[in-house]
Amino acid sequence: MIKIPFCDLAKLNRPMMAEIEQALLRVARSGRYIGGTEVSAFEEKLCDLTGARHAVGVGNGLDALKLVLRGLVALGRLNRGDGVIVAANTYIASMLAIEDAGLVPIPVDPDRRTMLLDGAGVSGCHVKTAKAVMPVHLYGRAAWDAGLVRAIEERGLLVIEDNAQALGARTDIAGLNGRHRMTGALGDAGALSFYPTKNVGALGDAGAVLTDDTELASAVRSLSNYGSDRRYHNVYSGGCNSRLDPMQAAVLGVKLGYVDAVSRRRRDVAVAYYRMIENDLIEKPDMPEYAESHVWHQYVIKVPCLEARDAFRKYMHERGIETDVHYAVPPHRQPCYEKRQWGDFPVTCEIADRVVSLPVACVSSDEAEYVAETVNRWRM
Ligand SMILES: *Cc1c(COP(=O)(O)O)cnc(C)c1O
Repeated sequence: MIKIPFCDLAKLNRPMMAEIEQALLRVARSGRYIGGTEVSAFEEKLCDLTGARHAVGVGNGLDALKLVLRGLVALGRLNRGDGVIVAANTYIASMLAIEDAGLVPIPVDPDRRTMLLDGAGVSGCHVKTAKAVMPVHLYGRAAWDAGLVRAIEERGLLVIEDNAQALGARTDIAGLNGRHRMTGALGDAGALSFYPTKNVGALGDAGAVLTDDTELASAVRSLSNYGSDRRYHNVYSGGCNSRLDPMQAAVLGVKLGYVDAVSRRRRDVAVAYYRMIENDLIEKPDMPEYAESHVWHQYVIKVPCLEARDAFRKYMHERGIETDVHYAVPPHRQPCYEKRQWGDFPVTCEIADRVVSLPVACVSSDEAEYVAETVNRWRM
């Protein structure tokens, strides 16, 4: 019986395992277990890849978002109570980080087709307190086009990218400074997650902040280390301990070398699905015109409705194919946000009821063909 797991991390890491093991041994034998050259070397590699002037390794992706926003508040670029426009269908981390910094999430419905925040979403949002926007490159696709850039510039919004899912994606439209083309380096700052299942995954938790802004980079570095700018000298009261572990930095240094290969592999699977899946009940994601703007962290199809989704997933499971849902309950419907009056978001709710993620991370071409054929044979 064919078995296609949704994501097999051991299999995914196997081709790089010898290098990863060497890197881990190197750190274990070094005697340096916090900070040091492993971390700074990885930060430099991130700058080389993305073009960002500064990269600051931190403990995880959520902390990367929190520290950027806390940093912007500490520097007076944002004030507590300011609004941050964000797609309502994002992962909850985006909302948690915004509220953590004393800022106010302003969720807006995404575009139905791309499932991403767009220019219409930003210009259609009339909340006066909005001072920033958080494009979330959800599923690995860059939330960045001419319309969005225009809407951002018209309102003079600060841009904090949640790039937890799209490291390695490039855009055809340049970032705000006119130079960068890689997600995470398009706006004022970007947050990365190296959670093990992300396109570049650590062997545990890890994250990073990207920015061209030297002051912000120093603020984030201090805030991630007890708010201190040098030993026993604390300049921020909002500090925490969220440093990038050198073990993870060493592993990530290896894995970053494979980021383009990983994106290419995922894109091949996505193209295969796009070509082969033909079923009137299934809505496929479209292919962006600029192929490199999507690194396919998830391949997300839509079934007709919530009831159909359970049936579809059971049908796939019975044929050896594991699927997942990203995400079944949007943030505004989570119990923790019950009392917020953010509004209702029909597009987001429809997406939440209909999306199913097919395996894409470690699928061979034969397996992709089997997945597509199985999808094609599904009837309600
Ligand atoms: C994974 C993820 C995060 C958080 O990253 P962690 O490293 O798990 O803390 C934030 N935002 C989005 C969109 C994510 O997918």
